[in-house]
Amino acid sequence: MTATTPSPQHHKSKALQPGSRRPAKELCSECGLCDTHYIHYVKEACAFLNQQFNRLETLVHGRSRHLEDENETYFGVHDTMVAARKKVPIEGAQWTGIVSTIACEMLDRGLVEGVVCVQNAADDRFTPQPIIARTPEEVLAAKVNKPTLSPNLSVLEQVERSGMKRLLAIGVGCQIQALREVERHLGLEKLYVLGTPCVDNVTRSGLQKFLDTTSKSPDTVVHYEFMQDFRVHFKHEDGSIEKVPFFGLKTNKLKDVFAPSCMSCFDYVNGLADLVVGYMGAPFGWQWMVVRNETGREMFDLVKDQLDVQPVDSKGDRHQAVQQSIPAYDKGVTLPMWAAKLMGVAIEKIGPKGLEYARFSIDSHFTRNYLYTKRNYPEKLDSHVPEFAKKIVSQYELPE
Ligand code: FAD
Ligand code: SF4
Ligand code: SF4
Repeated sequence: MTATTPSPQHHKSKALQPGSRRPAKELCSECGLCDTHYIHYVKEACAFLNQQFNRLETLVHGRSRHLEDENETYFGVHDTMVAARKKVPIEGAQWTGIVSTIACEMLDRGLVEGVVCVQNAADDRFTPQPIIARTPEEVLAAKVNKPTLSPNLSVLEQVERSGMKRLLAIGVGCQIQALREVERHLGLEKLYVLGTPCVDNVTRSGLQKFLDTTSKSPDTVVHYEFMQDFRVHFKHEDGSIEKVPFFGLKTNKLKDVFAPSCMSCFDYVNGLADLVVGYMGAPFGWQWMVVRNETGREMFDLVKDQLDVQPVDSKGDRHQAVQQSIPAYDKGVTLPMWAAKLMGVAIEKIGPKGLEYARFSIDSHFTRNYLYTKRNYPEKLDSHVPEFAKKIVSQYELPE
């Protein structure tokens, strides 16, 4: 425990009792910080109360992202980006299981004593259950996305109590932003952060609405992903894959499904993690790895022998498709399914690929989220939207 660990007086602060308040109110993404005594630091740490990318990027990576470089503007500070996949995929992982493999290796080699990750509740595969895994078996039990807001940081007090000195945290952007602010109070010798990109997250009830409106068989969905072929792929219990074109989604019904936190989030690519593992900058079937710093490189090197690796690629031009999608989303237009399928096929043939697809997805979400923030939280707009996101959004004409 370090000298800066909050004192018991802090824990008993009347205004900020653990679990009793969510200072970000409806913008809270349930990151879990406020379930712990670290709520004391919420005003600095919460991604929705204090946007501080430049400071935290400099703290973590030694510099903030270079805005004259398009790749850094979009994908954050990085040293290397590659497409990769496990030579032997982990059955039942979200993609090929690179995230779980790194975590297992780190425990096996004694690099860390515990891993913050998310299993699911015993009675519901989509209800998140954050834990500190101490064995590879516990890590593997956390594989696959729980596509709901998850209070990962709620386990931070256990880290402090256990006296653990070396920790790996797996998480999404809003969790990692808060973690980076309180990291120095955890008494750790070394923290590794393995992030995933994240967008359009939902509460458990929001997820049910999404499944009910979009899938033909909502009760049998095991997992889903918004894919590079412009379709949502639902995997069902029997192994079958159901594909629904993005352009056929019932946007009029789904507009309120995404959590307000996620409609005002600009950390899609998890800019403060040491290593990010997603899929959207890679060819279909591959994962996308962004090594941000030396610690990220160390994690990548641990598993590189288990991976097929190829350079990232980029094809097409996203701008027109993004510009056209802005008013369509804004008005909640739904295309009839036959038209949506045709459009999906056409876009897949000529549309953006690789890093350009990732930029397409970032542009579409940032323009939507910018409009949402401007309309609902005009007083926060200037301070909440980071400079890199303002630059990205400024390429497009937005409705009032
Ligand atoms: P696995 O080995 O299956 O491990 C998954 C890990 O994710 C587990 O360790 C688990 O602890 C953690 N996890 C699961 N659910 C959550 C949660 N709710 N919060 C925090 N951690 C969680 N990638 C993209 O490229 N583009 C996207 O738009 C995108 N959206 C995403 C949205 C969400 C809500 C999440 C959780 C992830 C998203 N990802 C996205 C990342 C991607 O889907 C995969 O998670 C990633 O590529 C890792 O795959 P894997 O097979 O290596 O993971
Ligand atoms: Fe607290 Fe996290 Fe919610 Fe912010 S997002 S109010 S830090 S629980
Ligand atoms: Fe957090 Fe942003 Fe993901 Fe929402 S979209 S859960 S705010 S990282």
